[in-house]
Amino acid sequence: MGAVRPLPDYLVRRYQGWKATTYADNRAWYRRLAEDGQHPRAMIISCCDSRVHVTSIFGADQGEFFIHRNIANLVPPYESGGGQHGTSAAIEYAVTSLKVAHVIVLGHSICGGVQGCYDMCEGRAPELEASTSFVGRWMDILRPGYQRLPAGDDAARVRALEKAAVLVSLENLQTFPFVETATAAGDLTLHGLWTDIAEGGLETWDPAAGDFVPVGRSSPP
Ligand SMILES: [Zn+2]
Repeated sequence: MGAVRPLPDYLVRRYQGWKATTYADNRAWYRRLAEDGQHPRAMIISCCDSRVHVTSIFGADQGEFFIHRNIANLVPPYESGGGQHGTSAAIEYAVTSLKVAHVIVLGHSICGGVQGCYDMCEGRAPELEASTSFVGRWMDILRPGYQRLPAGDDAARVRALEKAAVLVSLENLQTFPFVETATAAGDLTLHGLWTDIAEGGLETWDPAAGDFVPVGRSSPP
């Protein structure tokens, strides 16, 4: 534990600022959140990327979103048995215990994980193909998305793979028995989003159009 140290000063100061302002102004509400437990309406699965900020995009407060983040916002296929299935555990808890009404997969532009997967599948990233690479083996989840990419230049194909990461995750979500049960009962809906970090854009998967379309312009269900 020799590497563990007290919190850096800049974070201590930021915390103290929050405690004295946002928390102090809303103390009763925070206490009620603690007493009543959490009742989030939606689960969000997004990338670890520090530029993806789902609570900011939707102006969400504590208690609203049950958020799981991993590299490239991927959901692995359902798999029973041993292993340490962090993403699957989060989905199970959100759907079966919290009974969220929506699971939203949020992809994004210039995703390093997706770029790594693309390079690996193109044979340009041997380090990711090593059995010891956690990132490489995690990104194997997206290989089916790579197989379906249309022809084109690298930039267009990488962008298509970013969106494929959302679709592969939505497909894999539906392999979980408890997700299937909840969606069949009408208790749960699944959604795919992709955000353009530079432009602040947000697109949603429109099943009727068979494409991602800007949010607010999707076809009626
Ligand atoms: Zn990413």
